[in-house]
Amino acid sequence: MSGKNILIIGGSRGIGAEAVKSFRAAGDNVVFTYHRSEREADDLRIRTGAVPVRCDVKFSNSVKIAIDKALSILGHIDVLICNAAIADFALITDIEESRWEEIIDTNLNGVFYCIRNVLPLMIQRKSGSIITVSSMWGQVGASCEVAYSAAKAGVIGLTKALAKEVGPSGITVNCIAPGMIDTDMNANVDAEAVAEIADETPLCRIGKPQEVASAMMFLASEDARFITGQVLGVNGGLIV
Ligand code: NDP
Repeated sequence: MSGKNILIIGGSRGIGAEAVKSFRAAGDNVVFTYHRSEREADDLRIRTGAVPVRCDVKFSNSVKIAIDKALSILGHIDVLICNAAIADFALITDIEESRWEEIIDTNLNGVFYCIRNVLPLMIQRKSGSIITVSSMWGQVGASCEVAYSAAKAGVIGLTKALAKEVGPSGITVNCIAPGMIDTDMNANVDAEAVAEIADETPLCRIGKPQEVASAMMFLASEDARFITGQVLGVNGGLIV
């Protein structure tokens, strides 16, 4: 196999699916995970040749099984992209404990489970790139998205700490913090709120999933080998 070996966690839809297409188009070997979107994952397999593997990042055992499967297909992983997440809108006083836990388990603990399973072989090989996906709300906080913002702020802290820990092993760890991107995640946001965010954005629009995938491609590339511990905003200038 030629090209880099890429594992994209949460590759069945939205930004993750665009990343699957971009890395495949560049000649890389791609395994991606899906959770509920089996049909979309299979379509993506047919269109790109990337290999889907089922995984629920909330559960460490499900992550271990998926990563073992990815390793059996790829042999080793050069680039891990932790992209899976869910979003929710609620006042903090209305969030059920179980929903809080689901958001933290998916958006933060899931990142930990994925990294923990991939790192030993990267450390042994003294090479690898890990790309986490936070959000501008993890940088500045969003009203009515306290759980999501807390988890995404956690992802930034995890990224910075891990970059220091594994840098001596030749592994880079960087984070992408998207602004509002046109995916299913925002399907329930009303058009007025989307227009308001676009208005406040210096580039006067919301982002496209391909634009986040392009940032992932850069951080995974040889050109980014001296970049680690960084948070790259892909937000049209909304957060500077
Ligand atoms: P989508 O809702 O379009 O896709 C989410 C992806 O995560 C899907 O592939 C989904 O898999 C997967 N996923 C969700 N829950 C789980 C789970 N429990 N286990 C495994 N996989 C899971 O989201 P986006 O593409 O918009 O978002 C991608 C990333 O970008 C996320 O981390 C998000 O927080 C971040 N982001 C997005 C922004 C936006 O405006 N869209 C803004 C800022 C950050 P499946 O469908 O198979 O269940």
